[in-house]
Amino acid sequence: MGLSFEIQNTTAAGGRRAALHLPHGPVQTPVFMPVGTAATVKTVQQETLEHLGVNGAGAEIILANTYHLYLRPGHELIRRMGGVHRFMSWPRPMLTDSGGFQVFSLSKLNKVTDDGVEFRSHLDGSRHFLSPERSMAIQIALGADIMMVFDECVETPATWERTRDSMALTHAWAARSAAYFAAHQHEVPWATASACHPASACHSERSEESPHFEPPQNLAGRHQSLFGIVQGGMYADLRRESAERLVEMDLPGYAIGGLAVGEPRDVTREMIARTLEILPEDKPRYVMGVGYPDEIEEYARMGVDMMDCVLPTRAARHGLLFRSPEPGEELSPAEPGETASRSAVRMNIKRLEYAEDQRPIDPACSCLVCRRYTRAYLRHLFVSKEPLGLTLNSIHNLAFYLDTMTRVRASIAMGPSLTPEQAAAWLRDSRGDFDETVRDPWE
Ligand SMILES: [Zn+2]
Repeated sequence: MGLSFEIQNTTAAGGRRAALHLPHGPVQTPVFMPVGTAATVKTVQQETLEHLGVNGAGAEIILANTYHLYLRPGHELIRRMGGVHRFMSWPRPMLTDSGGFQVFSLSKLNKVTDDGVEFRSHLDGSRHFLSPERSMAIQIALGADIMMVFDECVETPATWERTRDSMALTHAWAARSAAYFAAHQHEVPWATASACHPASACHSERSEESPHFEPPQNLAGRHQSLFGIVQGGMYADLRRESAERLVEMDLPGYAIGGLAVGEPRDVTREMIARTLEILPEDKPRYVMGVGYPDEIEEYARMGVDMMDCVLPTRAARHGLLFRSPEPGEELSPAEPGETASRSAVRMNIKRLEYAEDQRPIDPACSCLVCRRYTRAYLRHLFVSKEPLGLTLNSIHNLAFYLDTMTRVRASIAMGPSLTPEQAAAWLRDSRGDFDETVRDPWE
């Protein structure tokens, strides 16, 4: 079995509280998935990821990028190391993208034919070819719990005709991806390794000195799941058609791709809403590459179950931190013309005003950074270009994103009557139990 998806509660607005059961463990949804581009969530170690967030539950699923791992260190090397879970010592669920987005956005000289895409590596200019079959073979070797069909990402803006043609190619590639996956899914590196007992011979391939890694016990008979990707650019009719074609393929989950590429936010929202109308309610729905904290909250409340974005970690490495508003604090709209208030304040830690600020980044945040370090110290680390600053900033931003989703899940589970204030109170209460286990280091 690949996955099971258990919906516990649905709001009038369509938001769903559910549990996604994957070979490497359960994921509470709606979920935000930190991005581990090259088998690392930049600057944050796995141990820390496992304990992030208000309830200490940590990130339950992370992403890795097929394009990056294919180029370096190579998917065959990762297969020989037992798959990406074992390679990076991450025992929990993972998702790999298809490599399509990076081929179209990062690499040079890409030539697209019906067969696939020829491109040059952004690392050394070497020539490569990626097709639906090749992307599947690479993703099977990596062995993430969820893999994505290979799709073409149309440039933005694109005409309706160009978007329609690209969408047709994406559908043909989705069918080829699914056919290859069906024939080769047993080749995933952990499919056989799981059946062995600690004392059995299959552990002998690893050196006696190998660090400890504890995979789930019940991987026998489990396999990866392949998600489809709805394309269609910024055209509602094409989005609907794309969703209908993919639903006919009866895949275990569906993503909405090609959004948050520079279009206004009300267009993103509209494309998501029109697509959600078509996607089956009993399967997980994933919006790729979004967004700011208030966006992930909004889309989760509309019925999106999974989201990922480099923003919390990338912003952190540029000194941009997210925090919750203080009582009575006025928030400027995220975009001109936007009326909905934002749920997060953006702080530029470089600013001189923080040089002697003794407060934590976010007094309402319980992350290990906010419990221990001042804004003054974080500013000093950042302007001094100390690597620790990047790590601490990333940890806080990731905790902020995970806590946002914890709050949304609570609010969906408790029903439509819960106000944002009540949800915030619930978050504070659940933090109370956790805080007792953490001692102030200066006490
Ligand atoms: Zn924090």
